[in-house]
Amino acid sequence: MTNFKKILPAAEEIIKKHDLCDNCLGRLFSKQLHLNSNKLLGEKIRRHFKSSSTKCYVCKNLLSNLNPYLNLMLDSSSNFEYTTMLVGAMIKPSIIDRDDHIRSKYKLRGIDSIKTDITKELGKQFTRKTKKKIDFLDPEITFTINFKDDTCSVRSKSISLQGRYLKTQRGFAQKQKPCSNCSGKGCRVCNYHGISEFDSVEGKISEYLFSKFGGTTVKFTWVGGEDKSSLVLGSGRPFFAKIQNPFKRKVSIPKKIKIDPVVILDCRLIRESPKNLPPFLSLVEIQVSAQNELDTNKLKKLKEVVKNPVVIYDKSGKRTEKQISSLRYKKTSKDGFSLTILVEGGFPIKRFVESQDVNPSISQILGASCFCTQFDFSDVVLK
Ligand SMILES: [Zn+2]
Ligand SMILES: [Zn+2]
Repeated sequence: MTNFKKILPAAEEIIKKHDLCDNCLGRLFSKQLHLNSNKLLGEKIRRHFKSSSTKCYVCKNLLSNLNPYLNLMLDSSSNFEYTTMLVGAMIKPSIIDRDDHIRSKYKLRGIDSIKTDITKELGKQFTRKTKKKIDFLDPEITFTINFKDDTCSVRSKSISLQGRYLKTQRGFAQKQKPCSNCSGKGCRVCNYHGISEFDSVEGKISEYLFSKFGGTTVKFTWVGGEDKSSLVLGSGRPFFAKIQNPFKRKVSIPKKIKIDPVVILDCRLIRESPKNLPPFLSLVEIQVSAQNELDTNKLKKLKEVVKNPVVIYDKSGKRTEKQISSLRYKKTSKDGFSLTILVEGGFPIKRFVESQDVNPSISQILGASCFCTQFDFSDVVLK
């Protein structure tokens, strides 16, 4: 009570000069008195001085009727599935100016700004209505209310998934080419997906994820890549997918989803996509054709390639090493053979066969020009 008495002279001076609503009046002193409700404190001060308010100098009575904004929030979030949320606001500069004026004129330090109070109040009233929870650090939904044009935008936290895919048909690219109108950023033309066609592995998986989770763009991290003409078999190629702005967060996904010619396996939600690509091994079956007939004895020399790492040079001359840990071959014709290798991920298969800045290479070992006509992934395994 003694504390309450201490603020009365300052409060009296202010309400004599400015008409303030209970929220704005209480806000000027609530921190000092360690009180939570600005409104109750405002009412108490006003009762003491038997004063009334008609139109608040600072907020123009915005704080007394937030209902239209609560309804706007309900409408704009109706498609989203969420439990935690946060509210942000863009306030008219005139309101901020008047708030600053009062605060500096009466030297009120350490109090909430009008903007803080509006977002707090919206959060409080909205969560009371909907039983959602405020989360300041990592909310599932972030509302931004624009008081300049009375609109509300909603963003939902991205979700990450991990899964594997099989590709059972040739002639199907791994990656989808981005929407030509926005180069993948997302626009009206592509429904904000960043892609407008769905005729690749990426397209098929994206289409499925959009149907289940909603969302705008999906960002993929592929554990290696293959040619359009390559198959991906065995347990499939692992991938990570991050869906921006999803509607749904908890969806049960079948263990096996067939979207011809793609099969998605064991797709599940994870906490976060990995920052760096995890190391992996590829089991690759390569079809090789040589310019000349091949001598079976010469083919035996291929076995030696597992003894040392294969050195790969990039355009700038930088060298990397990749180890082939097993190798099998089978003659398929006079001048052709198939080669199956287990190799560290990211290995340039065509260049290894055709001898382009790779040492040793198949062409080099056999002393004959060899070409890679096709290669398939029999398996891809995370280390
Ligand atoms: Zn006010
Ligand atoms: Zn677009």
